[in-house]
Amino acid sequence: MMAEVNNPFKMAQEQLDEAAKILGLDESMHEFLRWPQKEFTVRIPVKMDDGNTKMFTGFRVEHNVARGPAKGGLRWHWEETIDTVRALATWMTWKCSVVGIPLGGGKGGVICNPKELSEGEKERLARGYIRALADVFGVTKDVPAPDVYTTPQIMAWMMDEYETITRERHPGVITGKPLALGGSQGRGDATARGGVITVREAGKASGIELKGQSMAVQGFGNAGQFAASLGEELLGLKLIAASDSKGGVYCEEGINAKDLIDHKLKTGGVADFPGTTPISNEKLLELDCTVLFPSALEYTITKDNANNIKAKIVCELANGPTTPEADEILFKNGSFVIPDFLANAGGVTVSYFEQVQNSYNFYWTIEEVHERLEQKMSSAFQAVYEMHKKQSVHMRSAAYLVSVQRVAEATKLRGWV
Ligand code: NAD
Repeated sequence: MMAEVNNPFKMAQEQLDEAAKILGLDESMHEFLRWPQKEFTVRIPVKMDDGNTKMFTGFRVEHNVARGPAKGGLRWHWEETIDTVRALATWMTWKCSVVGIPLGGGKGGVICNPKELSEGEKERLARGYIRALADVFGVTKDVPAPDVYTTPQIMAWMMDEYETITRERHPGVITGKPLALGGSQGRGDATARGGVITVREAGKASGIELKGQSMAVQGFGNAGQFAASLGEELLGLKLIAASDSKGGVYCEEGINAKDLIDHKLKTGGVADFPGTTPISNEKLLELDCTVLFPSALEYTITKDNANNIKAKIVCELANGPTTPEADEILFKNGSFVIPDFLANAGGVTVSYFEQVQNSYNFYWTIEEVHERLEQKMSSAFQAVYEMHKKQSVHMRSAAYLVSVQRVAEATKLRGWV
């Protein structure tokens, strides 16, 4: 069994090691795929509202670009580290590969607390980040997107800065833009919609009834809120619990997802929603429910609580919520885990659609976006599920086998290894 680790990049490497063993990947290819191809660290001076200049540290990592330009979000987080960015860039490589889109894996981040920045400071930080990395980004090179604590407005400032530097229009240089600047229909709920499609497929594949059954959402943010409302709308699931960083709520009879979203908008959190009782984040994860959506951050299900997880299906909308050791326990206990880079691939898939629309300068309807997302997500699920059956491995290993094989093939065909 693999060791419990507390470094997401080590975790990403261990997951690859496991897949490399099963695939019989040769040593040089394995070593090549264990590390990012390129890494950048930049220092960004930002004029603060009080007149002082503050230095921020930013990162951009390109893990593998054999299958296409690097693609991946930008996180603004006070605990950002190069290793978190490396891990997320690595997972982006596998994610783009598993859904079969011709892109590589990238990720970026800035160490900052966005809650303490004014709008003006955010704009100057966004523009400073692009100025520092303008040579790295480009539609044919590396394309960022929003992630934790970055927004469509931040993407708009970044695109404008890039276009100001290059003196050309390049809407596809960044995705997750507002609709008025070339964003795609359907990007807002794409991550959760893709996840809900995989839950539907998992239910069908393993004979688990979903209609009228329960779901719990840990991390009621962008991904989590849409998972709750789409789970209700598309699968007939009943939301029985939800949590965020300020607290959690529980009601066995069901909570109306849209009303809970309104409550959070008004009060800033899910806590104190009428008709519910408080629940801790730990207890929420261990609820006896049909579907659990871990939708917050890394390291949520570990060897310490994996044995208490009772959900029949765990749909990982967050990146890296389950440690390798917890994975083995969940598999042994019969939980059906839909691994992060498959479960949350809907976001990057619609980001890719956005790039395609930008390059044609011709835009699709919401129905067209949904139909194409449906097709990508269900065929990705089928490929992984077939591998899971064929190799008798858990779904995460199966997802690795599918995607690593594709990336290794492209890397080899290019003659890099
Ligand atoms: P978000 O910031 O909108 O939401 C995160 C939520 O988690 C917030 O409500 C926060 O209060 C809550 N939270 C934080 N710590 C918590 C804790 N200890 N217990 C309970 N709740 C906690 O971010 P998001 O965009 O929804 O992203 C969530 C996860 O999904 C991240 O891992 C992200 O990388 C992943 N993801 C998001 C997208 C996307 O398109 N939004 C795409 C792929 C993956």
